[in-house]
Amino acid sequence: MKFHFLTIFPGFFDGPFRHGVVARAAEAGLLEIHTHDLRNWTKDRHRTVDDRPFGGGEGMLLKPEPIFEAVETIFPSRSPESRVILLSAQGRKFDQAAALRLRAYNELLLVCGRYEGVDERVAEHLADEELSIGDYVLSGGELAAAVVVDAVARLLDGVVGNQDSVLYESFTTRHLLDCPQYTRPADFRGWKVPETLLSGNHEQIRRWREQAALAKTTKNRPDLLQ
Ligand code: SAM
Repeated sequence: MKFHFLTIFPGFFDGPFRHGVVARAAEAGLLEIHTHDLRNWTKDRHRTVDDRPFGGGEGMLLKPEPIFEAVETIFPSRSPESRVILLSAQGRKFDQAAALRLRAYNELLLVCGRYEGVDERVAEHLADEELSIGDYVLSGGELAAAVVVDAVARLLDGVVGNQDSVLYESFTTRHLLDCPQYTRPADFRGWKVPETLLSGNHEQIRRWREQAALAKTTKNRPDLLQ
């Protein structure tokens, strides 16, 4: 799968994708990360990407022309196998179901907003969808785009060593949180690992995990149970 970022800060992505499973998957050729500098599609000598909002108001907006031209260069013809996503606080909420849906595409192009946002014609006439990573306002779309790519990439075949592990995670099979997990030592500062997990009885462990996942979901995310 190919992931493209359109951004005014191309160096931003050097960090998140130089480490961990996504970096290893890129090295193994399971996915590709391409970063595109929006300023390459400007035409003036100042490489201007922003302008003042019509009607007045605070701050600047990313202009539509460089974004349209960039997307039309990166995807010269639009295919049902590819998706253009605008990161926006006004978008639909990104969640695990959206990550599972997006992994079916061959190519994703993530458009990262900045300043006070992006001229609305990008959302209306260019992007296939607008995604928000949560009900808060970030200063740019880059962090949000990295979150989306990380969540989608780890669902691709071969990216995470044990594919079963992504099936039994929070939100995935039963829309519950994952169960609590423990490792050695079995007794840490007097806090003991639940006996059942040390019992070696697989059926009891399975049942303990199911109940513990339900208890944790009830405590931290009762909304998921509705
Ligand atoms: N004026 C906008 C609003 O109130 O909805 C916020 C603009 S924000 C300062 C600048 C950029 O950050 C946005 O264009 C978007 O790309 C990104 N951004 C901010 N919050 C986000 C979120 N929750 N999810 C995804 N992207 C976000």
